[in-house]
Amino acid sequence: MNSKLMNTYAPLPVAFVRGEGAWLWDEDGNRYLDAISGLGVCALGHAHPKVAEVIADQAGRLIHTGNLVQIPWQEKLAELVADVSGLDRVFFGNSGAEAIECAFKISRVAGHQRGFANPGVIVMEHGFHGRTMAALSATASRKVRAGFEPLVSGFVRAPFGDTGVIRKIATSANEITAVLVEPIQGEAGIRVPPPGYLCELREICDENGWLLMFDEIQSGLCRTGEWYAHQHENVKPDVLTTAKALGNGLPIGACAARGAAAEVLTPGRHGSTFGGNPLVSRTACAVLDIMREENLCGRAAASGDMLLNAFRRRLGADERVQDIRGKGLMIGIELNADANHLRQRALEQRVLLNVTQDRVIRLLPPLIIDEDQAGQIVDVVCSLIENSL
Ligand SMILES: *Cc1c(COP(=O)(O)O)cnc(C)c1O
Repeated sequence: MNSKLMNTYAPLPVAFVRGEGAWLWDEDGNRYLDAISGLGVCALGHAHPKVAEVIADQAGRLIHTGNLVQIPWQEKLAELVADVSGLDRVFFGNSGAEAIECAFKISRVAGHQRGFANPGVIVMEHGFHGRTMAALSATASRKVRAGFEPLVSGFVRAPFGDTGVIRKIATSANEITAVLVEPIQGEAGIRVPPPGYLCELREICDENGWLLMFDEIQSGLCRTGEWYAHQHENVKPDVLTTAKALGNGLPIGACAARGAAAEVLTPGRHGSTFGGNPLVSRTACAVLDIMREENLCGRAAASGDMLLNAFRRRLGADERVQDIRGKGLMIGIELNADANHLRQRALEQRVLLNVTQDRVIRLLPPLIIDEDQAGQIVDVVCSLIENSL
């Protein structure tokens, strides 16, 4: 390992030199099946020919100009994001956490417009929103926050999937201006809220004049079988964050908003040097086009059903398995014991997967996986649980 790197990660002992679709190859030519796609980023798979072509072509023309001038590809991308999300206007940054920062800045300005001195945001237990100071302050995990005090203030935490506490907060004196929630929690171990939860949140927000903000950085862009996971329910947020799969690996994050929330940021109030440059914007346009052309929402829904059913058939009665859950290709298998060592065991079986919350196997395979690859994931994951736990 390169000791000149800051000690922030504990990588598996493998490095890849090439990818194609859901496959990865290491330096020795060994082939691996990718069941995590760089944490849900490479949804179209690796080295997608159309994505590679667009990147090469744009790199040969113009990579960056800065937002001092107009960027037609960024405007085009905003139209596409507005179209798939149903929201009005979009701001582009370079990561998920930056999209979250933009959402918080919108909520703060909206709160001040209501005359609040200290506008607050309700966030959820087990929620994860990123590693910048505001994003980690909004994140539930103690491990993420510990050591970084003083945290950014203004966050109030409520249980995920239960609106009782939120209704109680609404009846007390408060300066809440927004609710931020992942429609399906990712880092928390793929937690799916009960049906109707998001609609109830919408109702509470409407009653109180709060902004409803969905963090779909992980759950968005066809991952769960819809463009955005909240679209499984009849509900629309005021603010939406989206990132991970948007550039299929090029760094880009976006914050979209609707109605009054889309108008609060005005020239000079927010910005980004790299955000939405011609290279990433044109690439993300291509990603969204491909997702539509190749019906990746439909494919993720079908492959996800197949995987979930297969896991339930094989592991449903296994006493080592606590829960099997998810939607589309966002799947968690919660075990009764520590499962961290299974990442290494899986690697030895030439499958790349992730474990979160110590006991949840998390699968976020590329949305383009075929039936054979899905079957291989099932076989390896089930045999790991049956033999290595
Ligand atoms: C990954 C993630 C983030 C943070 O995104 P970065 O690009 O790592 O900053 C925020 N929210 C959710 C739900 C995520 O999954």
